[in-house]
Amino acid sequence: MSNIVLGGGLSGLSAAYYLLKKLPNKPIAIIEKSDRLGGWIKSNILNDGIIFEQGPRTIRPSGTPGINTLTLIDDLGLSNQVVPILSSHPAARNRMIYANQELHSLPSSIFSIFKKQTPFSKPLIRYLVQDLFSPKKTINDESIYDFVNRRFGREFADYLISALICGICAGNSKEISVNFIMKKLFEYEQQYGSISKGLIRNLLKKQNVNVDLKGLPLQAKKERWSVYSFKNGLETLPKYLESYVRKNNVNVELDSKCNNLEICDNSIMLHFENGKHLKADHVISSLPSESLANILQNQHSHLSDLLRNIQNVTVGVVNLCYNEKLISKEGFGFLVPPKEKLPILGVIYDSCCFPKANNTVLTVMMGGYWFEQLFGKHPEEGVLLQTAKEQLKNTLGISRNQLILRSTFFTSVFLSMLLDIMKI
Ligand SMILES: Cc1cc2nc3c(=O)[nH]c(=O)nc-3n(C[C@H](O)[C@H](O)[C@H](O)COP(=O)(O)OP(=O)(O)OC[C@H]3O[C@@H](n4cnc5c(N)ncnc54)[C@H](O)[C@@H]3O)c2cc1C
Repeated sequence: MSNIVLGGGLSGLSAAYYLLKKLPNKPIAIIEKSDRLGGWIKSNILNDGIIFEQGPRTIRPSGTPGINTLTLIDDLGLSNQVVPILSSHPAARNRMIYANQELHSLPSSIFSIFKKQTPFSKPLIRYLVQDLFSPKKTINDESIYDFVNRRFGREFADYLISALICGICAGNSKEISVNFIMKKLFEYEQQYGSISKGLIRNLLKKQNVNVDLKGLPLQAKKERWSVYSFKNGLETLPKYLESYVRKNNVNVELDSKCNNLEICDNSIMLHFENGKHLKADHVISSLPSESLANILQNQHSHLSDLLRNIQNVTVGVVNLCYNEKLISKEGFGFLVPPKEKLPILGVIYDSCCFPKANNTVLTVMMGGYWFEQLFGKHPEEGVLLQTAKEQLKNTLGISRNQLILRSTFFTSVFLSMLLDIMKI
C-alpha cells in the first residue's frame, strides 16, 4: 500500500516531492488522467525560441508560498534557469486598464497616489481617505464589487476591482465573495474599521518580522523581483519536478482517470476508468473541484455537492506573434473592466516581459464568466482568433497581416467561488 496523489499538475507534483522528503521509504504514486504531467502549465517553444505560454506564465516570489516555491526551485538545481522581472522593469511598473477607448496606467508608486490619473476622477489618496472615514458594516460576507463600492466608491469598483477580478480568475466581481477572494481586506474592515487602518497596522507589524532568508529567496528579495519565469518557459518547473520524482521511484500512472473513491476499513480503494483499482493508505487530491466531486459522489454526497457548487468558467487563450516591434508603451499588458463590454478580459505583452529579438508576442485572454454568452459553448478556433485580432486593432491599433505565428485554444478555468457556497 502507498500514498497516492491524484492529479499530476503543479500541485500534485509538488505534493509528491514533499512526500518524498518526509517519507522517503514509503511508496508513492501520481495518478494523472491525461498523457502528460504539468496540468495547466504548458509552454510551447516555437522557431526562434519564441515561447507561447498556453496557461500561466509568471510566478510571484512574495509571501510564504513565494519563498517556498523559490526554495523548491533552488533544491531542484534550477536557479540558473530562472528569469526574473525586477520591480524597476516597465513590465512590473506599468500595468494598465483599457477604459473609455484608451489605455490608462495604474498608480505604481507612492508618489503616483497623490496625482489624478485617468480614468479615475480624483487622486488615489482621496479614495483611501474615503475608506478611512466610511463606517464599518458588520456582515459575514458580500460580493467583492459591493465591498469595494461601499468602501472606496463606484469608480474604484467599476474600473479597478472588476478588471483585477477578470485578471485573477476571469470572474464576475459582482458574484465573487470578498471573504473568499480578498479575505484579508475584509478582515481589516471587520477588525479595525477600515482597510487603510488594517494595511497600516500590517505594514508596521511586517517591519518587525525578521525572516531568515537564504539562497534564491534572499536573491529575489535583494534584487527586488516582481515576478519570474524560466528561460524555456514556465513548464520547466513541472518538467524538473517530474524528472525528480521519477528518479526517486515515484510511480507515475498516465492516462489513468480516477472515477471513484471508496473508503474501506483500513484503506482507500481507488477505481479507474480503464478498469484498474489501487489500494492506498492515504490519498492527496490535487484535482479540480468538479473532478473531485465526481469521484466522491458515492462515498460522500454532501461534500460532493459542495464541491460541485464551485463554478468553472471558460477562458479563450490566443497567442500571437508579429515579426516587428508594435508596442509603443512597454508594460505587463492591460485588463479590460467588464463595464467596457468588450469580448476580451485582457492582453499580456509577453515580449515586453521577456523580449525575443525584434518580435512582438501577445496573449489575448477572452470570455471567462461571459464566455458562453459571447461565443456559445463550442466556438470554432477561427472565431477566437478573429476576435483576438479585431480587439488588438481596436485597443492597440494593431492591424498587421504579417502575423507570423499563432496558436489558439480554450480552457476551462477553476475558481469563481460564488457567494452561495460561502454561506453554506
Ligand atoms: C489561462 C491561465 C493563466 C494563468 N496564469 C497564471 C499565472 O500567470 N500565474 C499563476 O500563478 N497562476 C496562473 N494561473 C493559475 C495556475 O495555472 C493554476 O493555479 C495551477 O496551474 C493549478 O495547478 P494544479 O496542479 O492545482 O491544477 P491542474 O493544473 O488543473 O492539475 C490538475 C491535474 O489533474 C488531472 N485530473 C483531473 N481529473 C482527474 C481525474 N479524475 N483523475 C486523474 N487526474 C485528473 C488533470 O488532467 C490535471 O493534470 C493561470 C491559469 C490559467 C488557466
